[in-house]
This record gives sequence, structure tokens and C-alpha cells, in this order.
Amino acid sequence: MQTVPHFINGQRRSASGATPTYNPATGEITGQVPTADSTLVDEVVRSARRASLTWRNSSLSSRTNILFTFRHLLVRHANELAALVTSEHGKTLADAHGELARGLENVEYACGLTGHLKGDFSSQVADGVDVHSVREPVGVVAAITPFNFPIMVPLWMIATALASGNAVILKPSERDPSASVRLAELLIDAGLPEGVMNVVHGNADTVNQLLVHPGIDAVSFVGSTPVARHVYETGTLSGKRVQALGGAKNHMVVLPDADLDIAADAAINAGFGSAGERCMAISVVVAVGDVADPLIAKITERLDRLTIGPGDDPSSDFGPVITKEHRDRIIGYVTSAPADGITVVRDGTGLSSRPGFFVGPCLLDGVRPGQKAYDDEIFGPVLGVARVATYADAVAMVNANPFGNGVALFTRDGNAARLFAREVTVGMIGINVPVPVPIASYSFGGWKNSLFGHAHIYGPEGFSFYTRAKVVTTRWPQPSESQIDLGFPTTR
Ligand code: NAD
Repeated sequence: MQTVPHFINGQRRSASGATPTYNPATGEITGQVPTADSTLVDEVVRSARRASLTWRNSSLSSRTNILFTFRHLLVRHANELAALVTSEHGKTLADAHGELARGLENVEYACGLTGHLKGDFSSQVADGVDVHSVREPVGVVAAITPFNFPIMVPLWMIATALASGNAVILKPSERDPSASVRLAELLIDAGLPEGVMNVVHGNADTVNQLLVHPGIDAVSFVGSTPVARHVYETGTLSGKRVQALGGAKNHMVVLPDADLDIAADAAINAGFGSAGERCMAISVVVAVGDVADPLIAKITERLDRLTIGPGDDPSSDFGPVITKEHRDRIIGYVTSAPADGITVVRDGTGLSSRPGFFVGPCLLDGVRPGQKAYDDEIFGPVLGVARVATYADAVAMVNANPFGNGVALFTRDGNAARLFAREVTVGMIGINVPVPVPIASYSFGGWKNSLFGHAHIYGPEGFSFYTRAKVVTTRWPQPSESQIDLGFPTTR
């Protein structure tokens, strides 16, 4: 049985592991993951800190060159990386290629680092005085990532953090840790100096050691809301800057004037793609006015045509969920729904009799706040439909929800769309776009319980998060200007 190695100071480091990895399509154990203890965490932080002192002084052109080569290697190894993701995560190969493609955007954006790291200059702010600003790397960044995007989310963090001149210690999800090691190896192949990019595996204990370690300057976290809150509170208490992205409950509001075929397609794609294990998945369709019955008819018609199977079978629309425990948790929401007054229109829980961790598509009608199936992030192939009378009711429902990651509106009315985008308390909004993950030149982040800390991830806010500003005020006085003046310096 294979044990996934750590990757420290440019080398694979084997260690014995106790946490199993599974092939979710078969339920079989495929390997083991080690857990870094405090000695190993100390070692990797020391090594990363040492490497950061050289890397921070590397030229911008050499960083750009390495990132360009890294991008090229990611493309060249796309099939290998996608297969690795499918084998540990379970998503379809097409979906794994999709997450790599979105991650690549971040590497491409980071390749423009000479522009992103540019400072400002103000000439003659006072007589003979100029001011300029620079952005310097924070030092060592801990990147802690979830299971559902084992390539894209690490790339959100590492491309920008490395471009900014930091060393990185990545602690990937213990459920699908192998892709992270390959990313680190490809960076070395691309010319990144040893020690700048490291991977340590582990669990909550490992994360907690990173959060309080004095050798770590910044923490980027993506995962569930309770852990995000804990990471934010613990990391900031230790004096670190922290961005902690949490869970979601994304609504898709359908107005009566919407094209219902387009809306039904979107509900299926965004509700069931990757078995609903996306932080930007649609989990509640909010049907406004009399739209619910015809929309549900169109959704069920499409849902009944979906094929659920192993991710490496090209005919599968979506694959298994990540673990047996998660499968059983998802099933619990569906079986308990009728007791909460919810109608189960389609019940895919019967697929649990297959080997592997499968749940078929489930459609729940009549979800509303106060029910577990509405209040909790289910993170599975379960789509709820909420019925509301008016546009205002829909906006009120979205805004009362404690999560604020993504939201979508389906309409043909430009004014309603414009109002909606202004009124919702959500970070990422799609107008007739169900999964509005911003392109890499914008940053990604939710509001409310979907993000702790102010900085969104990647893009311009990513560069800002991974760097600190310095402002230099300069004067070159001539000997004739010598004078004593104890007054507070003004610019006038
Ligand atoms: P998770 O919170 O269980 O784990 C995320 C990371 O935190 C892992 O590396 C894990 O080892 C570590 N961890 C787990 N428990 C911990 C604890 N008690 N203390 C410290 N560290 C701990 O999340 P997951 O199940 O891997 O991923 C799914 C979740 O991530 C969903 O809630 C999903 O919405 C969210 N997510 C959010 C975004 C976003 O951008 N907002 C993106 C992807 C996933």
C-alpha cells in the first residue's frame, strides 16, 4: 500500500501514515496519508523561512519565467493530474480537467507579476521631496485546502503567494492529498528553488500547529465554515494575517419572466455537477410567483436523464461523493425531509447499495428556513426548491441566509438584474450564470459566514494579501538647506 509522501525542501519525504485514502468509486482503500507532528512542522517552517530569505530577493523576471514554465508543465501533465484527482476525489475526468483549467488561470494571472507588484511614485509632494511605495512579500504562507478542489484551490493560493516572493507550506486535505505533491514537484521541475514550496500532510492537529507557529506570517484557508472561523480566530490571535473562506448555501432565483429551459439546465448543471461538492454549487432554487411547477417539471425531466457512475467512465455525469460518512450524512437530509414538510420529488439515496460512495440526484420541493435541509450546507447532489411569492421575498430569503458565497438570478429583465446585484448581501453574483466563479483578474470571496477576514482570494486582493506595503519618503538636501526646525514636518 502506498503512503503519500510529504514534500520538504525540494524532496519527497516518506513517513508512515495512518489515515487511509479511498477510491470513492469502489470504496477501496488505495493508500495512506501521514500526519506531520510538531517536529516535522518545525523543520518545514525552518526550511521554508530559510528559502524565503533568498526567494524574496529573486528577480521578478526569474519568478515570471518559473511560473510560465510551471504553467507549461501543468498543461503537459494535465491527463496525469486529472486522473490523480479522479482516483482520490471521485469527480469525473472532465470535471477534473475543468478545475485544472480554472487553476491555470491563476498561474497565468500570476505571470503578470511585474504589473501586479508595481508600486506608486509621487514626485515633489513637498519641495524636494518624493514618495514611493513598494510591496514586499510577507514571508512564509501556510495554505490549508479542502478536499473538493485538490488542484484549483491550491493554485488559487500558491501561484499568487509564490509570485509575490513568499515561501509556501501547503497542507492539503487528507482525503485527496496526492495532487498537491505533484504540484510541488512540477514547480521544482519549473526551476523553483528548493524549500520555497513545501507540502505537509496531516489533520486538525497539524493545522493547529501551523496556526500558532511563530515562523508563519500568513494563512490562507479554504474549507467548511466552523473550521474557517476557528482558523481565523486562532491565526489572528497569533498575530498572523488570515483569510479563511468557508462554506456556502447558494441560491438561484428564477423570476417568472425567465427562460425556464435555460434555468432548468442551469439548475441541473450547477446543482449536480461534481455531485454537488462545490462551494459554488446551487443548492436552493428560489422559484418566484407561479414558476415552481413548470420549472420542477423541466428539472425532473433533465435529472432523470443523468448517469451516475465512476469518474473515469466518460458516460458518467457525476461520480461518487468523497467518503462513506459523507454519503450517509447526505442521505440523512433526504430521509428526514418529509418530517419537515418537504416533498421528496426525486430520491437518489437508493444508489447507496452500490459499492463505492454513491448518492443519486435528489430533488426536494418546499424547502424553507428553519428546516435542516435548507439551513445546513449539505454538500451533495441534493437540490431544494423554495417557493416564494415575489422578487422581494426572494431577496429577503437570500439576504437572511447566514452564508453569502454565490447567488444567481435568472431573468430577461435587465433592470431587475441590476437591482438584484445591488441588493443581495452575497460576494459573487451570476446573472443568468449559475456558477459565477470570477476569472483570475478579479478576486474570489463570499460575504458573511462564507469568508472570515477582509481579503478575497487570488487576483488583485490575493497580491495585496501576500504582500506588505512600504512607503518611502525621499529628500536629497543640498548643504545650503541645513537648518534646525523642531516643528512637525508638513508638506506646505
Ligand atoms: P474541512 O473544513 O473539513 O477541511 C478543510 C481543511 O481543514 C483540511 O485541510 C482539513 O484537514 C482541515 N481541518 C479539518 N478540520 C479541522 C479542524 N477542526 N481544525 C483545523 N483544521 C481542520 O472542509 P472539507 O470537507 O475538506 O471541504 C468542504 C468544505 O469546504 C465545504 O464547506 C465547502 O463549501 C468549503 N469550500 C469553500 C470554498 C470557498 O471558496 N468558500 C471552496 C471550496 C470548498
